[in-house]
Amino acid sequence: MRRALCSVQLMVNQKVRIWRDRWVAREPTGGLISARGRCRLKWVSELMDFRGNWDLEKLQQYFLPVDIVEILKIRPSPRFGEDFLAWAPERNGIFTVRSAYKLASDEASNHQEHSSSSSPDGTRAVWNHIWKSLVPPKVQSFAWRLATDSLANWTNKVKRKLEVSPLCPVCGREDEDSFHVFCSCNHAVILWKLMAKVWNLPSRTMLKHVGPDWFIHLLAETNEEGRAFVMMLFWRIWFVRNELVHHKRPPPMEVSVCFLSSYLSSLSAINSNPSDDPIKGKAILDTGLEKSHKRLQSDVAADALWAKPSIGRVKLNTDASVLGEEAGCGMILRDHEGSIIFSSCRHIYGCNDVLEAELLALREGISLAILWSMLPLDIESDCLQAVQMIVGGSSNKSKFAFIVKEIIGIMEERSSCITHSRRCCNLASHSLANFGRTQRRPVVWLGSGPEVVRDIIERECNPVNGAE
Ligand SMILES: [Zn+2]
Repeated sequence: MRRALCSVQLMVNQKVRIWRDRWVAREPTGGLISARGRCRLKWVSELMDFRGNWDLEKLQQYFLPVDIVEILKIRPSPRFGEDFLAWAPERNGIFTVRSAYKLASDEASNHQEHSSSSSPDGTRAVWNHIWKSLVPPKVQSFAWRLATDSLANWTNKVKRKLEVSPLCPVCGREDEDSFHVFCSCNHAVILWKLMAKVWNLPSRTMLKHVGPDWFIHLLAETNEEGRAFVMMLFWRIWFVRNELVHHKRPPPMEVSVCFLSSYLSSLSAINSNPSDDPIKGKAILDTGLEKSHKRLQSDVAADALWAKPSIGRVKLNTDASVLGEEAGCGMILRDHEGSIIFSSCRHIYGCNDVLEAELLALREGISLAILWSMLPLDIESDCLQAVQMIVGGSSNKSKFAFIVKEIIGIMEERSSCITHSRRCCNLASHSLANFGRTQRRPVVWLGSGPEVVRDIIERECNPVNGAE
């Protein structure tokens, strides 16, 4: 990619025609998407200011956001050696994004005053708000597309002549620009309000439609934690919006709430004890989320014991135990008082894969839970990878995708949500899984469990060394 940019950069310094030459490094066509329209400019150099920087105002006047994004990747002049106007989605592209934005915003800041997002030297830290935030990289990429107004909402599609009307395809009340999608559309407002009960979101009065930069303003006026919450929430809203637009059955609001809450808490849990799940733990630590985990760690530590579900819900815990070719799984369902509805174990023949055993435990546990209770279901597994596969939904392409699909199908029969729990909060199902593996038989205890499980539950409900 860097190589491609270099060739483009050389071209820009010569006479390059805006509408005839292929000067934008877009794969595979290498052309602009914007139509020429009434643009009278001919040369690429006319899109720059006297310092050789891109003239953002002109870019915004004549190009669609998707093209502006590509154009801003190009370093316009070698005379400004320190600035590098390029963007690469790879991790090592973070710093070029920042310098690119600095370069671009020097020009923009002549026209707009964003005191809150400007440091004294005029360098806006806005891009850091996204690329250094505490959310997963895919959410950062999404936030970046939102900040550059390059999401395919109906207003942008109309500009690209891909739609005829910008009216919101979900509610039909207003034109669907990015502000409408995330701040005004009905489902977005509802999900924001629900999540505000769980997360410390910024006040809704901070959602102001100040122009295409509204999201950048919002990030600038929000603290680090709030930014992470907002990005995660908007990411989910965009997912739900796409489901609705594509006429799929959208996930119920409570599923979205569970998804979002568990997503961040899974990230925090794995960091507080990365050895819980070495495969995933490594992947997440690599994304630079340590800081967020540290902050959230205290919450996790406070719940080091199994926690009862809220009134009107039941909680299922599942676990697997694998030793050589022998595997077992354990499942236990409890009510809001911590009483056992059922506990169960089973031996799994010919299974030596922990992840497979964990998924089978979930499948069996959820099926049983739906049989033995009518209440909404909280599901906990200490296998982060399994939880993430289920939360990730249909995108799963692993060799266990069919089990994941079955689990999701069963979960849809009941209002349910799944979260990752630490092993120390999952002891009862763990001992059931051991029991199943060693006893080599399936058992279901209704309203009770084997002695070892009853002991554990007794200890959980009456902790000896609990906080005063
Ligand atoms: Zn709408």
